[in-house]
Amino acid sequence: MSILESIYATPAGKFVARKAGLSDPPKLRRGRVLPTGPVVLGELDGGGIARQTLELLGVIPGQPIVDTPEARIKDDKGRSVPPRYPAKPGAIIVDATGVREIVQLEGIRALLRPAMRSLEGSGRVIILATDASAVDGLEAKAVAQGIDGINRTVGKELRGGATSNLVFLKEGTRPSDLASTLSFLLEGRSAFVDGQAWRVGQAKVTHELTAKPFADRIVVVTGAARGIGAAIARTFARDGATVVAVDIPAAGDALAKVANEIGGSALQLDITKADAGARITGHIASRYGQDKRIWAIVHNAGITRDKLLANLDERQWSSVLDVNLAAEMRINDHLLSGDMPGGLGEEARIVGIASTSGIAGNKGQTNYAASKAGVMGYVWALKDELSDRPITINAVAPGFIETEMTAAIPFVQREIFRRTNSLTQGGNPVDVAETLAYLCGPASGGVDGQVVRVCGQNLVGA
Ligand code: NAD
Repeated sequence: MSILESIYATPAGKFVARKAGLSDPPKLRRGRVLPTGPVVLGELDGGGIARQTLELLGVIPGQPIVDTPEARIKDDKGRSVPPRYPAKPGAIIVDATGVREIVQLEGIRALLRPAMRSLEGSGRVIILATDASAVDGLEAKAVAQGIDGINRTVGKELRGGATSNLVFLKEGTRPSDLASTLSFLLEGRSAFVDGQAWRVGQAKVTHELTAKPFADRIVVVTGAARGIGAAIARTFARDGATVVAVDIPAAGDALAKVANEIGGSALQLDITKADAGARITGHIASRYGQDKRIWAIVHNAGITRDKLLANLDERQWSSVLDVNLAAEMRINDHLLSGDMPGGLGEEARIVGIASTSGIAGNKGQTNYAASKAGVMGYVWALKDELSDRPITINAVAPGFIETEMTAAIPFVQREIFRRTNSLTQGGNPVDVAETLAYLCGPASGGVDGQVVRVCGQNLVGA
């Protein structure tokens, strides 16, 4: 802890910080926990899928309150205010999947206005809309994107750790395809996902949502000895996975500790080695049997070698690209080259870790930004290549997450990174882990080729 940080941690330091406008950030609801208050459902003309999906989840939706001129009341100062909810809703879901015209956007405003100041802490706004690819006409396509503008702004205006997210539904999406996403968004698992929009479509293979989705399934996690990787390993193990925890030999002790704690196995391996893919499949075949296959591989291992481009040499350049991008691609090439003992299952999930630096760029990180933007490009391209197989490929793009990697950033800069998002705090490693577990879930087969930011709606690249 730096001197400045220790002063900041004292009551006097906190008092000064509050006076300077740096209030304590809200505590976020985390884990497999639904909101406490009612889940309110607002349906606009042509909707319906939200109600059917909530039925699948066993959630009985409450009635929305709608802001109309007639419904407004006068407060004691004579001001006209929207009607209020009698009890704080835990979430409001707006089913806007039938919205095609500019004039219909008013329906979203009318539903959201009464909820903006009344959601419980860590409440949720979830908007469902039809993807532009599934609607006809210029107005409908413009309107689909317009809804994203509403979502991003609502995320910035909500308080108390509440979030807003938007799910675009592609042609033919069924309630069973949407269930895993809606459940993730309602629960505390999505605590640090805010102001985001992503797409859901029809899964090639349908699975029901279960409490232990990875039971009897093998999940490989690279860089699992510490930080986000260790949280990923623990989260998948919580959800039933047999985890193969991979990290460099120098991190062997920490790796063994994580693997033992969760009943998984440790594989000491530098993922940049040419035979890394074969080492992974060999480990699984010898440890778990020739007929075992990988359900999911989480490419989490990553490094930074930050320097302004003016000072960046070829070694700092190539090491970052090799660990963060090329190694992942080589391992996947091996795994995708055919069926093999310890190889990828038919319906496997492949996930990578990008970064908001890859989206917006970041001073001192040309090498890192190239590698992380590369991860996103790779996800989009590989998704198309695998389009005839039920394998999915996705990535998360974390913003500022509290780990040893980010603890190395100087305090003032770190505090700025922490605060400059809608939730005014850094994320926890588990927030990234939960999002990856959602993407890898058997019931998430309709989520493919997506990059989901886990950044609290960081201003960077927003
Ligand atoms: P970390 O440095 O704490 O952990 C990374 C792990 O990867 C370490 O255990 C390390 O030993 C391992 N590793 C590095 N090179 C390896 C190799 N060649 N072979 C095998 N293992 C290797 O980092 P973290 O903060 O936990 O980050 C995890 C991932 O999330 C990285 O890809 C990082 O780029 C990404 N990320 C982190 C943040 C953040 O705020 N912490 C933000 C955006 C993206």
